[in-house]
Amino acid sequence: MSPLKKTMLSLLLSTTLVSQSLSAANNIHRLPELGTAAAGTLSIEKEIRIGKAYMMMLRGKLPIINDPLIDEYINDLGLRLVAQANDVKTPFHFFMVENDVINAFAFFGGNGGIHSAILLLADNESELASVVGHEITHVTQRHLARSIEASQRSNPATIAAMLASVALIMAGAPQAGLAGFQTSIALSKQLAINYTRSNEKEADRIGISLIANSAFDPQGAPEFFKKMAQNYRYATKMPPMLMSHPVTEQRISETRIRAAGYASKKLPPSLNFLLAKARILIRFAHKDIEVSETLAKKKFAENSKEHKTALSYAQALIALKKGKANIAYKIINQLRQEDANNLFYIDTLSDIYLALKKPQEAADMLAYFNDIKPNNQVVVLNYASVLLELKQYELAAKILNRYVGDRPTSAIAWSLLHQIHKEADQAVPRNIARAEQMALFGDYEGALKQLYSAHNLLGKDELSQARLEARIKQFKQMRDDLKNLKI
Ligand SMILES: [Zn+2]
Repeated sequence: MSPLKKTMLSLLLSTTLVSQSLSAANNIHRLPELGTAAAGTLSIEKEIRIGKAYMMMLRGKLPIINDPLIDEYINDLGLRLVAQANDVKTPFHFFMVENDVINAFAFFGGNGGIHSAILLLADNESELASVVGHEITHVTQRHLARSIEASQRSNPATIAAMLASVALIMAGAPQAGLAGFQTSIALSKQLAINYTRSNEKEADRIGISLIANSAFDPQGAPEFFKKMAQNYRYATKMPPMLMSHPVTEQRISETRIRAAGYASKKLPPSLNFLLAKARILIRFAHKDIEVSETLAKKKFAENSKEHKTALSYAQALIALKKGKANIAYKIINQLRQEDANNLFYIDTLSDIYLALKKPQEAADMLAYFNDIKPNNQVVVLNYASVLLELKQYELAAKILNRYVGDRPTSAIAWSLLHQIHKEADQAVPRNIARAEQMALFGDYEGALKQLYSAHNLLGKDELSQARLEARIKQFKQMRDDLKNLKI
């Protein structure tokens, strides 16, 4: 990870996770009853706006895994947990970050990031769910807002200054932004925006109820705590999550007692969990392919049908990575005999067809799935890439435009649209796609430039002109909102 990425992350961590050595008794005096605090200072609407700004920053600075299968998997898991939560006031969105340090974080506006190391360390889905459930609870209980409010009482100026400097970076001017950012790091170090021990206890307690009520095994929580403690028992350097969430014997035993209050469930291994893990391990963990292969054999060694299937899937990905597309093809076809519509397989088969220089076969397969699973992100993004390869720009643009109507924050979709219109030599939609892409990263100045260029090129089509002018107005508004973002 580059130093810049590290500092970006540490800002986030210092504002969201780092726990303080305040005594629990002290907190009782400082914090009002649950749910009543922070309401006056920070409205939900503002939390969402700040969350959006942070998310823009993270898109550019963190190695977010932009893989439709991983994205779908982690959001599906997270939203199953959110469905059981009370006090859900914001939409939720989850993403995975390629990072081999154990960590997870949640921040304003229901945004939750999970490092890939968590998924690789977890042996089953309930263990992963226990981390996600804990983070969801920090958001629903508004722990961050309450911590900020508590800090603001002692140091009102700095919080506003910190958020303003984040807003400044987001508002464009990357150079000025970076300087502002350094200041904000210095400021954030002086701040005590921390989750207290009582926040952590509450996140553990409510988090476990979420996993139990969403049909996961509550034992996943104590098991995963135990695993983290064992893994880092002799470590000289603790990962941030263990510094902010120390896994003490007491915490493990408290969690075990809580888990015992729910019926234990003996669940079969989740195939999607194992396939997502295989994919992270082979495609995103940046390990030497031989190392990944050895790890896959170890991680999928259990004698269940699901583990064997995941190992085969890992072997297909390994073969493809080693340039042995024919071997990968055989394995995927075998897997599809049991489960022909599995999107993990469809995605890999599409890559295999491209590697075998058979894009038309990939297109035929994906056209079929596009009919039966309309607007599915795995299908649409693969199909559009294949159509780009086949130079079928019109159809590619058509399915992508429908897709971004549903998911306007899909950076990959806008980037594909930009590429398609570039290849097709269509300046106006190319500028528009680039503008939307830039706006996702908070670069409204760049986005506006693209839209002005498009506007100059437009003919007398009044409807298109009006649409473009409306978008220019919106971007200006969003830029100004970002500049004025303060608590
Ligand atoms: Zn926590």
